[in-house]
Order: sequence, then C-alpha cells, then structure tokens
Amino acid sequence: MGKPQNREVMSELIGMHIRIIRFLPFLDALIVGVTAYSLRALVPTNILALAIGMVMGMETIRGTYAAVAFQRRKLIDPFRTHRVLVVLAGLSGLALGLLPVFAFPYITEAHMVVIAAVLFGYAAGGVGVAASPAIETTWSLSILLPVGYAYGSVHPELGTAVLILLALFSGFLVVVAWAAKNLLAQSIVIRHQRDVLVKDLEKSNAEVREALVRVEESAQTRARVLAAASHDLRQPLHALSIYSAVLSAKPAPDTLQEVSRSIDQIVRSLGDLLNGLLDLSRLSVGYYTPEKRAFALDKTVLDICSEFESLAAEKHLTLIRDLAPIRISSDPTAVSRIVRNLIDNAVKYTDHGHVRVSTGIENGEAVLTVADTGKGIPEALHGRVFEEFYQVDNPGRDRSKGVGLGLALVQRLCELIAAEVSLDSAPERGSSFSVRFADVLPEPAHAAVDQDPAQASSLAGNRIYVVDDEIDILRSMSALLHAWGVIAWVAGSPAALEQLFIDNGVPDLLIADLRLGAPEHGAQLARRMQGLHGPFPVLVMTGETSSEALRQANEQNYLLLQKPIAHETLYAAISKLLS
Ligand code: ADP
Repeated sequence: MGKPQNREVMSELIGMHIRIIRFLPFLDALIVGVTAYSLRALVPTNILALAIGMVMGMETIRGTYAAVAFQRRKLIDPFRTHRVLVVLAGLSGLALGLLPVFAFPYITEAHMVVIAAVLFGYAAGGVGVAASPAIETTWSLSILLPVGYAYGSVHPELGTAVLILLALFSGFLVVVAWAAKNLLAQSIVIRHQRDVLVKDLEKSNAEVREALVRVEESAQTRARVLAAASHDLRQPLHALSIYSAVLSAKPAPDTLQEVSRSIDQIVRSLGDLLNGLLDLSRLSVGYYTPEKRAFALDKTVLDICSEFESLAAEKHLTLIRDLAPIRISSDPTAVSRIVRNLIDNAVKYTDHGHVRVSTGIENGEAVLTVADTGKGIPEALHGRVFEEFYQVDNPGRDRSKGVGLGLALVQRLCELIAAEVSLDSAPERGSSFSVRFADVLPEPAHAAVDQDPAQASSLAGNRIYVVDDEIDILRSMSALLHAWGVIAWVAGSPAALEQLFIDNGVPDLLIADLRLGAPEHGAQLARRMQGLHGPFPVLVMTGETSSEALRQANEQNYLLLQKPIAHETLYAAISKLLS
C-alpha cells in the first residue's frame, strides 16, 4: 500500500497550522487590548503604543499570509511556505517578547508576573497550533528569551535561576512539539492508507459487480442457446421417428424413395446444426488457435465467390466481385469461414438484384464488404443477429431457413483474429456487412505464395498408426488412409498399439482417439509411447468438447481435431504434421 510522500505530510501539517493562525490577529487584539488597558497609567503612552503596534502589526502580517496561503493551499509549495512560517513565527514571537522589555522598567511586580504568565502561556500554546517543531521552537524561544532578559535586567540576582528555568521550559516545549508533530504525521499516514483502501475496495466492488453482470449475461445466453438447440434437435428427431413409423407401416419402393430423400435432408440439417454448435463451443473454450500467415485476401474471396456462382445463378442474382489486390496477415481458415458465411447469408436473404463482394483499403486497414439488395435487417436488430440462434423472421424455426449460428460464428472468429465486423442495413434496402483487418502487408498479391503447402504435399509412403476403440472408425480410417497411399496400421486398444510399436517400430504419425474405453486416454497413451520409443507427431481426434482429457490433450500441444472431421481437414492436418 502506498505511503504518502513527505511532501504530502508536510502539506497537511502546514494546512492545519495556517487554518488556525489566520484568526490569531483577532485573539491578539483582545489580549493585547486588555494588557494595554491595565498598563495605561504606568507605561508612557508612546512606548506602550510602539510595543502594541509591533505585536499587532506582526500578527496581522502573519495572519494575512496564512489566510492567503490557506486559500491557495492546493497550489503552494509546502516546504517553502513552512520556511516563511518559521521566519514569521520568529518575528511575531519577538514582537510579543519585546513587550516586557519595554514595559517592565515601569510596572509593578504584580503586573510583571501577570504579563510573564500570559507570555509563557503564549509560548506553550504554540505546541497545539504549530504542527512543526521548527515553528514551535522559533516561536517559543523568540518570546521567552526577551522575557527572561527583561526579568533578569529588573532582578539581576535571579538571572541564573531564570535562565535555567527558561532553558528547561523551552526544552520541554520542543520535546512536546516533536511528539505532537509525529502523532499528527502518523494520523495523516493512517488516513491516507485508509483512503487508498477505500478506493481499492470501491474498485474491486465495481469489478465484482461487472463480473456478476457478465456471468448473468452468459447464463442467459447459455439458457437461450440450450433452449433453441434442444428445440432444433428435438424437431428433426421427432420427424425421423415419424418416418421410421411410415417405413414400418408401408415399406413400398415409392415410399422408400421419398422417405430416404427426407431423411437425407433431416440428417444434413442436423449435421449443420451440430457442426455449428461444435464450432462455436470450440471457439468459446479457446481450443482454436488462430495462425498468422500472409495471404492475398482478394484471391481467397475470389475462390469463395466461385463456390456460390451456381447458387446465385439459380436465384437469378448477379454476383459482383470488386476485388482490389490486398495482402493481409491473418488466419486464412478463419477469414475464409467469415467470408463464406457472409456470402451465404447474402445469397440466402436476397431474392432479386445482386450481391456485391468487395475488398479495399480504408484508413490503412483492409476492408472486406459483402453487400446485397435483399430484404435488409431493422436497425434495432443489428446487435441481435450476431447472437446464437437468433433469426429475424423464422418464428417457426424452419430449418430450411438456416439455424441462426452463421453470424454468431462470424462474430467469434472476428474476435479471435482481432478483426472488426460491422453492419449497415435497413428493411427493403439491403444489407452490407463489413469486416476490417488491421494487419495489411505492403507487397502486391502473388498467387503462387498462397497455395497451402499442406494441400500440395503427398501422403504416399508415410507410415501411420491409428488407435481407436470403435471398429467402424478404424475400418473407415484405414480405407481412407490407404486411398491416400499411406501405409496404415490400426489398433483397437492401448495394448494393440503397444504391440504395433514393438513389431513395426516408431511411425511417422500416430492418430489417436481421445476416448479409448480404457482408463488411459489417447493423449496419455501417445505421451507414454513417446516416452518409451522416442518422438513422433501425434494427431488427437475426439467428439468431446469439454472433458478433462480434452484439456490435457491441449496441454500436451497435440494437434486436436473435433469430430465430425471433413476429409480435407484431416488430409491438411496429416500433411502439416508430416511436413
Ligand atoms: P441463419 O442465416 O442460419 O439464420 P445467421 O446467424 O447467419 O443465421 O443470421 C441470423 C439472422 O440474421 C438470419 O436469420 C437473418 O434473419 C439475418 N440476416 C443475416 N444476414 C442477412 C442478410 N444478408 N440479409 C438479411 N438478413 C440477414
């Protein structure tokens, strides 16, 4: 915890001092007035006027200085002000101390005692208001020394005794002044620390409140996503059970054909839904690590446009490409996914007119825009369309109109690759989605660099082991790997894999399922084999999204693919690990 600086402490002490001595001239006027009145018959008027004039003059100067300093207390230099106050305390004390020097030769013993008592009281009273030993010492000495001198000159026989008494009294005052100043300084430090604590507490309270709001929001989002997902899963399952009843009631060839077409459609949209959910959860739990690679944005966009050519033609839409050559440094897979989802929506929600896809540079950033002449989105819903499962015009949740995850994915991917997505749209005036990428590279686009080296390489001749406890997966993987020219061995259990290592040595790559129906999961098995037989690359496949095993696989830094896995993705991952 930060301690206040000496300057701050001094500033506070000076503040206390000047706050009080602003009012001293009024108090002095009273005391000095009464003293002058009682001495008026004894002391010559001119001497009395001089003594009282000096006291009032000095106290007025000191009081005025204190009043001005008090007004400007935030701006003044505390150390400089302190030095001035020490000098003023000395001069004011001296003016008071000279009063007996002038008056004692004319007054009675009784008057002397009263005046000396008042001045001793003045000197001692400084302890309470000085807030600084230097001020108090100067103040009390400049009063007491002249008093001692005045008394000593009237009674020289008491000179030594008076001197000793004065020295003891002054020493006592200085000690008390030190103690008082230390006490004050300590209380200032404690108050300062309390202020810092209160501020820290308020800050952490605000943070806790914000975190609570975020938790509440995320709980609401989760509940909404779960409700929509369970609805969207239940409907097709219900339809499937009806088709199965139809098949058992009427297994005629014409029914078979129609039902199989419908089942195919249902399975396809179920697949879309599951893929979307898996992608979202993968992005949410941080299992997707974006890469940073230089590539030509315009060329990537051009390739994706050609995928939508026939779909657009079917709807009599013109697909306009307005692509300035731009190279950016980003994750090409994520960017492709963003572009694909935006063009897919533009084509889906536009019935006539065109879809314009453009790239350009604005304020030093690369901007991709997908604009259409479709039905548009009301401004109030511009934020909501990026939420999971939110659809503008699909209250019946008709799956042929999409599942409502496309823009949520776009949003998450943009957050992941530090791009910024924005929307400009109004009903019946079309929509324009823009994505801004900050990392623009200066070189012009060269097609040759952009080819993914993984796709170009060949897998033929590589030795790959596959371990999975599901026989169907082993069969299909074996067939696929052989089709790619790979020399593949499969194992249905950890023990079978151990045997493969013993018989055939270390492979070029191990593909392991995470859940193996054994206490040891795929990533642990791979780590054990690496420990026993030396290093080799590992690819882990899994259908899980949140288990402890998944976290461990990530910790081991194994490449992790989430099922279902498209064969291009598998091919690219294997090529990457083998290179
Ligand atoms: P989906 O397209 O599967 O419904 P999205 O998350 O991609 O899900 O989009 C959410 C909603 O935003 C869509 O249901 C649609 O109503 C609206 N939307 C998205 N893109 C467009 C567009 N280009 N034009 C009009 N509406 C759109």
